Amino acid sequence: LYSRLQQAQKMEAIGNLAGGIAHDFNNILFPIVGLSEMLIENFPSDSMEYEDLQEIHKAGIRGSELVNQILAFSRQTEDKLSPTRLQFIMKEVFKLIRASIPSNIEINQSLQPNCGLVLADSTQLHQIGMNLITNAYHAVQENGGKIDVEVREVEVKKGIGVLGLPPGKYATLTVTDNGVGIERDLLEKIFEPYFTTKKKGKGTGLGLSVVYGIVKKHKGEIKVMSEPGKRTSFQVYLPILSSSPLEKTEGICSRQPTGSE
Ligand code: ADP
Repeated sequence: LYSRLQQAQKMEAIGNLAGGIAHDFNNILFPIVGLSEMLIENFPSDSMEYEDLQEIHKAGIRGSELVNQILAFSRQTEDKLSPTRLQFIMKEVFKLIRASIPSNIEINQSLQPNCGLVLADSTQLHQIGMNLITNAYHAVQENGGKIDVEVREVEVKKGIGVLGLPPGKYATLTVTDNGVGIERDLLEKIFEPYFTTKKKGKGTGLGLSVVYGIVKKHKGEIKVMSEPGKRTSFQVYLPILSSSPLEKTEGICSRQPTGSE
């Protein structure tokens, strides 16, 4: 199986590369933005030079904005962990996705409302949902088809372990599509950074490696099942907090009424 260490190393290399290029570009853009701004003062505002310099200045600014975005992506940002409901996150993701999916593709969601809390970075969970559903969409895009999204709570029991997960309660996200499917020999490659079967310009090969990294960071697991030409199903398991801080707070409040009523 593809090792977690290999994956982490590759992601770090990509981050460093992007960060390095972005940094050099900032240095290149610096005189373009600075000098065009200085020179522009030497020309009347209705002259051609003034207009051209303004274009150069604007392009430089656009470039540095882009560079800053790349820098933000490559930087290792702190995880912001808090008790989170996967079903709420997926509701948001669903709203965003449904608006951009054409009508020949059916997309359904089934979200268990009382699914327990997970300790998670909500932005990263959002990313998991977006990436899995986007892939499902690409898989059914050509011939039309169906995507099912499900969130529910499951219990992993001793002895029936799922992929070596410790027994306990898990919030699961399952994304199933009846699209092109994945050939058996590719199943272990799909989580590698840069692995893609999509046409040039369509896929980066980073989506699933990002998902994998996030799931592992949250002490979860990801499972994939596929019948080539028929269907694919990705299932993410995230451990549920044994007793949530929210429930604890409610408990304390009910035992100590404030008497303000
Ligand atoms: P990208 O989508 O940019 O190719 P990913 O890392 O998200 O990168 O996916 C890697 C590869 O895994 C895809 O190119 C595709 O071959 C395969 N794949 C992922 N999800 C699905 C799916 N739902 N159905 C079929 N193939 C998939």
